[in-house]
Amino acid sequence: MLGKWILWALLVIVVLLLFRLQGKARQVPEAKPKRAAPPAAGADAMEAAEPMLVCAYCGVHFPQSEAVYGHVMTTAGPPVFCSTAHWRAATTQDRSSS
Ligand SMILES: [Zn+2]
Repeated sequence: MLGKWILWALLVIVVLLLFRLQGKARQVPEAKPKRAAPPAAGADAMEAAEPMLVCAYCGVHFPQSEAVYGHVMTTAGPPVFCSTAHWRAATTQDRSSS
């Protein structure tokens, strides 16, 4: 008689342990997708995300943060230059031609 009760008690404990393990196993996959972007590729992603512009004087491509904007507005917006040297060269060309 006592052996039967011990077996039932062990069965209940095993079932409870299995339920706990299942609950933990379900929680882990839900927590993982929240950590999305790896921080290692952060710097490269920032550089890649920066829009590239074309110099109106020499036609070279350069990042928007290095852009020098001209004062004369055109239909496409203000002209953009890769450096102040090209901005000056373009503005002096316009003045000499007109
Ligand atoms: Zn240029």
